[in-house]
Amino acid sequence: MKRAWHKSTRLNFEYRDRDIELVSWSRIKKIPPPSDAIEDYEDESGWWVILSDEQGDVVYRQIIHNPIRVDKELFSYGNEEGVRWEIPDAAEQHGDFSVLVPDIPVATHLSIYGSFEEDDVSVPSWEVLSLELGLENLELDTETMAAPRDLEEGRLIGITKLVDNGSSTEKWNIALLSEGYRDSEIPDFHGHSEGFISKLKATHPFTELWNLVNVYLVNVASIDSGIADPRNPQDNPRTYFDARFYNFASNDRLIVANQDLALLVARQNVPEYNLAMMIVNTELYGGSGGTVAVFSAHPQSAKIGIHEMGHSGFGLADEYEYAGSNGLIGKRYAGQPRSEANIATSIERARLKWGHLIVEEDEIPFFRNPNCNDFSPKPPSHLAGKVGAFEGAFHHHCGVYRPEAFCIMRSLGHNSFCKVCGNRIRKIISSNF
Ligand SMILES: [Zn+2]
Repeated sequence: MKRAWHKSTRLNFEYRDRDIELVSWSRIKKIPPPSDAIEDYEDESGWWVILSDEQGDVVYRQIIHNPIRVDKELFSYGNEEGVRWEIPDAAEQHGDFSVLVPDIPVATHLSIYGSFEEDDVSVPSWEVLSLELGLENLELDTETMAAPRDLEEGRLIGITKLVDNGSSTEKWNIALLSEGYRDSEIPDFHGHSEGFISKLKATHPFTELWNLVNVYLVNVASIDSGIADPRNPQDNPRTYFDARFYNFASNDRLIVANQDLALLVARQNVPEYNLAMMIVNTELYGGSGGTVAVFSAHPQSAKIGIHEMGHSGFGLADEYEYAGSNGLIGKRYAGQPRSEANIATSIERARLKWGHLIVEEDEIPFFRNPNCNDFSPKPPSHLAGKVGAFEGAFHHHCGVYRPEAFCIMRSLGHNSFCKVCGNRIRKIISSNF
């Protein structure tokens, strides 16, 4: 297949409350992610980036995960279901995110479409950022030339290419950052990374895509070992990315860290990265989602990382139900159709986005939640592994459907991505080849 584009541009944005601003950019010698459908998406709710030409025609579209962090996702130890934590002062959030788009000569304009909160879904996403490209006219990015941050809390030691399947220009690259490891503990970081990598490699569809993936370890040494823990405020380890347990409610151990610094370190050290992740040196289970997925060295935490890849690497939606404490989410979804590949609001066969994957000719495998005020019961076993329409997804009990009964985007108790998520992952990773 002939490739349309060979080079990418990485655009780095900063948001403060609801204002998004381009702060820097750089040209990357790398095959960019493929385009998503550029027709019939105007009614959708979700997040995407579009490039358009001088006539205003869309030439490229990339569905992304909501980059604005108003809450954090984590998984309780033991029950494997996702829960979400509101971040205090969500109205005044700020942070960074990056988007890798093709360097298309005819593209003169970039827009980001989004909706800021999950209860904003009753209207289609709107243009939250509009930018004349003319990149030649923009100031050159000097950030990548800046010296790596040498902090009181630690320093960058170097990069290790742990999984080497070829040139980073043509592969899908993971940058894995270390947090809370002292100089002498970097070998532990490598061991923990290998543990994560072997789990990822065993997860469908990564098993068959493995020769398209590179993994770079960004070895950052901290002065102290471990993670800050609110239960022991007296020992406050000095670590590079300032990771800390946010709370200790039952088994819901949310780990937060300086994601903006992590993105910067990833950009500076692995310019061709597709996805940045961070391993935190603690044996306790925990982690969180976000632009950079964060997970601990506990063996089960690797699955948090794999689920978060579905969001930050492939723009997939959660397929689980969640009765929000504020009552705003959960129950029935009555919003616009969604942009994500793995959830649907219409189950009409012809309009179902994964209809082509349904093998049954007469009726589609279908499972409805009989009580919208409660969680969808487990579908009968004869429906396992079948593509159809299963009610309960995207933090709602009904009104929105997932393609299969089980998927790692629904529960960490499952060991693989479903067929629809797998195809999405394959499409993006294969484009690098
Ligand atoms: Zn999730």
